[in-house]
Amino acid sequence: MDAQLYDTVIVGGGPAGLNGALYLGRSRRRVLLIDSGDARNMAAGVMHNVLTNDGATIEDFRARARAQLAAYDVTFRDDEVVSAEYDGDQVVVTAERSGPVRARTLLYAAGVRSVLPPLPGLTDLWGRSVFECPYCHAWEVRERRFAVYGGGVPSECLASTLTVWSDDITYLTDRRELPQDERELLTAAGVPVRADGVSELKPHPEGVEVVFADGRSAAYGALFLHLDTEPRVAPLRPWLQAPDLESVQTDDRGRTGLPRLYVAGDLGRNMQQAAMAAASGGLAGMAINSDLIREDRPGSLPEPPPPVPGR
Ligand SMILES: Cc1cc2nc3c(=O)[nH]c(=O)nc-3n(C[C@H](O)[C@H](O)[C@H](O)COP(=O)(O)OP(=O)(O)OC[C@H]3O[C@@H](n4cnc5c(N)ncnc54)[C@H](O)[C@@H]3O)c2cc1C
Repeated sequence: MDAQLYDTVIVGGGPAGLNGALYLGRSRRRVLLIDSGDARNMAAGVMHNVLTNDGATIEDFRARARAQLAAYDVTFRDDEVVSAEYDGDQVVVTAERSGPVRARTLLYAAGVRSVLPPLPGLTDLWGRSVFECPYCHAWEVRERRFAVYGGGVPSECLASTLTVWSDDITYLTDRRELPQDERELLTAAGVPVRADGVSELKPHPEGVEVVFADGRSAAYGALFLHLDTEPRVAPLRPWLQAPDLESVQTDDRGRTGLPRLYVAGDLGRNMQQAAMAAASGGLAGMAINSDLIREDRPGSLPEPPPPVPGR
């Protein structure tokens, strides 16, 4: 067992966890950040829409953040957290290789995973010519032919949004029956529908080749999908006692209704974007700092508003 008692252990070294560490480090808090190095956007290699870091590689962004954090009492550990519990007094966080540590608070910023549909060939093209977020990727492929895959989760609004970047967009239903309202949205956006089954995706010099069930194929500059996400909360069970974090997150600073547990980033209530994740990490850092001041100097700060269930 690490003999230190940290003010905060942060799980996750993406924009949320790193910015939380910055706020807490600058608040003279002793912080341990544990990260398994497997960010949601790693497949893309670079990030956009982050001011002064537009187009920066994810590795470089993270390395520079860590270098800046070296000025503060922030320790990094590259490891996988397997459990995080509250023992009635402190938080006990256990990592696979480095074992347990104790802290006064836990900032959980482990992110989410995008759940890819089971389309053969998709994994290899994910983040290269198959994307989820128009704001993150459409500029680089603007004015090319796009396809939008609506075979799993409805993506008709994604198709309409993409009309800013291309006027040649085809909506692929992969045989999913489209309800009338979805058809109307696509018609209004000027996006034609192709209902053939999709059997495979292949790399293509233009971007991506979509192979249909009848053997015909079409090449596109990019394929966009709307995806479900899965919260990475396994280590928090059984503490969490809920299927997701949304049902326990309670205020706009990442305070949950559970003692000493804070969340930030894609796991929180914000839009799932790097800059928003970083902002929410900062907010959670401020919440943690003020809650620790309340604990150390009772009565010195007003109480935060009570939690609103279900938010
Ligand atoms: C392909 C793709 C491209 C994207 N491009 C952009 C873009 O250009 N611009 C943009 O703004 N947004 C982009 N996004 C969204 C962006 O990736 C997220 O909004 C952002 O990364 C969320 O930050 P986060 O800190 O919450 O989580 P993440 O960045 O996912 O970081 C979470 C960290 O927690 C770690 N972790 C998870 N579980 C554990 C554990 N048990 N123990 C230890 N560590 C753990 C992970 O290894 C990871 O390093 C993209 C998303 C995808 C899928």
